[in-house]
Amino acid sequence: IMSPSSAFLPVLERIAAEIEAMPGRGRSADYIPALASRDPRRFGMAVAELDGTVYGVGEWRQPFSTQSITKVFTLALDLAREGDALWEHVGREPSGNPFNSLVQLEYENGIPRNPFINAGALVVTDRLHTRTGDASGVLLGFLRAESGNQDLTFDREVAASEAAHGDRNAALGHFMASYGNIGNPVPVLLEQYVRQCSIEASCADLALAAGFLARHGIRADGTRLLTRSQAKQVNAVMLTCGTYDAAGDFAHRVGLPGKSGVGGGIIAVVPGRCTLCVWSPGLDERGNSVAGVAALDRFTTLTGLSVF
Ligand code: GLN
Repeated sequence: IMSPSSAFLPVLERIAAEIEAMPGRGRSADYIPALASRDPRRFGMAVAELDGTVYGVGEWRQPFSTQSITKVFTLALDLAREGDALWEHVGREPSGNPFNSLVQLEYENGIPRNPFINAGALVVTDRLHTRTGDASGVLLGFLRAESGNQDLTFDREVAASEAAHGDRNAALGHFMASYGNIGNPVPVLLEQYVRQCSIEASCADLALAAGFLARHGIRADGTRLLTRSQAKQVNAVMLTCGTYDAAGDFAHRVGLPGKSGVGGGIIAVVPGRCTLCVWSPGLDERGNSVAGVAALDRFTTLTGLSVF
């Protein structure tokens, strides 16, 4: 007999079997050399209930490179500290451009379209670093607390690999600094950013860590991180911008706030109900996990859950 708190396990098992039979799985990210060798056939998926119960299928306890999924957490951590003032420095419109694009910045006075493209994430990390003196450390502490996993840590090899191939992010940082939208020295910011992206965590860890977004701002220990309105804001930006220039397709197929990373992970939120995390390293041309999007698509189709 299934406990009510693992109600979605049969659905996850069915999805895992379908994904196993799926032919094309995309390619792992190769612009960060340390991520290039990840096998696109690997797969894991977890669901975290509002009460902190977590369960999953496949490699749901396997740590992977969180990459841009961390942008959700830095956004929440900064928003909790500075509130609406943040939105004067970063927008909340979908960019319709690749995650590492530079083109819109010049037309918009160094204010990035949204906090989930790299330019916007750099602004958020810069501001969090100014407020806390240790953006990546505050982020890691938060992920450890929410997941209950004190072993979460940075992957130095991935951070070094990205730093060594970070000309594009350096360009974004310097360009925004020229408009006065970056407060820290750009090299300091870039170091914080690659550390942030290098955090290794599993589907279980990330589904739990995102729980505050399903609980309308309430953390795992019952304290409040975000106001209800701010939690709505973060979920809304995830829905419209969380998968970059594929956000329209993701909303169409999955119908949930979601955030991807080039490590192959995606988190998704069913507000008031549960959070999900799926991982499979094979990416499409836009940098989203092929099997990950397919699995979330099947989840909302099979369960009927979505924000619509
Ligand atoms: N660290 C990666 C980068 O800055 C994150 C990108 C991503 O996950 N989409 O390019």
